[in-house]
Amino acid sequence: MANDAGAVFDVVILGGGSGGYACALRAAELGMRVVLIEKGKLGGTCLHNGCIPTKALLHAGEVADQTRESEQFGVKSTFDGIDIAAVHAYKDGVISRLFKGLTGLIKSRNITVVEGAGKLVSPTAVEVNGQRYEGRHVVLATGSVPKSLPGLEIDGNRVINSDHALVLDRVPQSAVVLGGGVIGVEFASAWKSFGVDVTIVEALPHLVALEDEASSKLLERAFRRRGIKFELGARFAGVEYTDAGVKVSLENGKQIEAELLLVAVGRGPVSAGLGYEEAGVAMDRGYVLVDEYCATDVPTISAVGDLIPTLQLAHVGFGEGILVAERIAGLNPVPIDYAGVPRVTYCDPEVASVGLTEAQAVERYGSDKLATISYSLGGNGKSQILKTTGQVKVVSVKDGPVVGIHMVGARMGELTSEAQLIYNWEALPAEVAQLIHPHPTQSEALGEAHLALAGKPLHVHD
Ligand SMILES: Cc1cc2nc3c(=O)[nH]c(=O)nc-3n(C[C@H](O)[C@H](O)[C@H](O)COP(=O)(O)OP(=O)(O)OC[C@H]3O[C@@H](n4cnc5c(N)ncnc54)[C@H](O)[C@@H]3O)c2cc1C
Repeated sequence: MANDAGAVFDVVILGGGSGGYACALRAAELGMRVVLIEKGKLGGTCLHNGCIPTKALLHAGEVADQTRESEQFGVKSTFDGIDIAAVHAYKDGVISRLFKGLTGLIKSRNITVVEGAGKLVSPTAVEVNGQRYEGRHVVLATGSVPKSLPGLEIDGNRVINSDHALVLDRVPQSAVVLGGGVIGVEFASAWKSFGVDVTIVEALPHLVALEDEASSKLLERAFRRRGIKFELGARFAGVEYTDAGVKVSLENGKQIEAELLLVAVGRGPVSAGLGYEEAGVAMDRGYVLVDEYCATDVPTISAVGDLIPTLQLAHVGFGEGILVAERIAGLNPVPIDYAGVPRVTYCDPEVASVGLTEAQAVERYGSDKLATISYSLGGNGKSQILKTTGQVKVVSVKDGPVVGIHMVGARMGELTSEAQLIYNWEALPAEVAQLIHPHPTQSEALGEAHLALAGKPLHVHD
């Protein structure tokens, strides 16, 4: 617990999640005196209730699937089931090692950490546990929490949200997942691997509807093959308790019975009652409004992460936190191009993208100005070895740069590191075609797609 209340800091940061702690680390690195206020655990949603625990569950699911399917690879094994307590122990071990590393890192940068719930009490001060922390700048980074629908009560047992799902002490027989966005499809995927009978209910016409439509359709095909059921364009009407769990009704008249209902309809900002509006910060439906430098309209106050209406991703929070620290330090940083941020949905198969969807590119450039190629992973040796299917789709401006890359298949998330360089450096297909990709890797599919776009396809069937 810090004891330097009363001191004037360069930056007072409210919230120690991805956005807040990244800002703290960079600000301290730049020589600023920083106080970081956190009411829960440093690391926030990503480390404790988001990215890391979900990926651990998904990996446990992948091991289960590989055990079940090992004979396809000539390996004999028997699958005896999921020991959910051991899965949690594995997941919690990962979290606690990372948490230890993070707290050590923050300590090593001489950042003052204050435990407790803070409230903004002036444009330059936050109050915690009755003590006031004053700074030249304040950064709001209080993040987000799971939302529900009007009238849909989360009881934490039969009607749950992602926080509950991550600590569920049983593998349910069956589940309805309300919401086919990133969080919904990741839980559906992990649970199916654990043997759960899963049905996703999505009001929009597609799963992961923000992705390129071709990616959504490939994911839907893969989920169908895996036996994950889904109702698309279906609106939730209500839920009742039954002896066995819940009965979910849809507006189209369908009813689905299951052991539990996971509500994954998005996340909303944490800002109510925290003094933001009173300090003069402009807000919209609970989100703090900022310019491209994450500055609010109050000169001393910035905001980052899920609290502002940008992409709700941990690496976006990191980027925004770093941007704010550098701006405050007078380094003149470049604003973030949000279209250039890689997006990965870590279900099986993975869906990964950067840049514009084809529909967005058509809207921006016109369809006659675009060249698009979809390269099937069927022609990629490593994908065949892994027995995964999917594609790499590249959208480019004719005689111009690549403006969108959309990938579906196992491990495609790893390819976003190359895809983001291609998009963000405005590479021409011919320039990427010039690069030799290592064989046999899945990255060759990216290379092949660019070879084809550059008019010299290699492993492409006519
Ligand atoms: C299930 C799930 C899976 C996800 N998977 C991914 C993924 O794979 N990749 C990815 O990039 N993103 C993922 N995300 C999103 C990612 O977790 C968030 O975008 C990220 O955590 C946002 O960081 P943040 O710092 O804005 O907010 P948070 O991480 O929510 O941190 C805010 C912090 O502020 C603290 N706080 C709030 N109010 C106060 C107060 N009054 N006083 C003091 N402290 C306060 C909170 O305790 C919290 O620690 C996932 C999210 C969920 C829920």
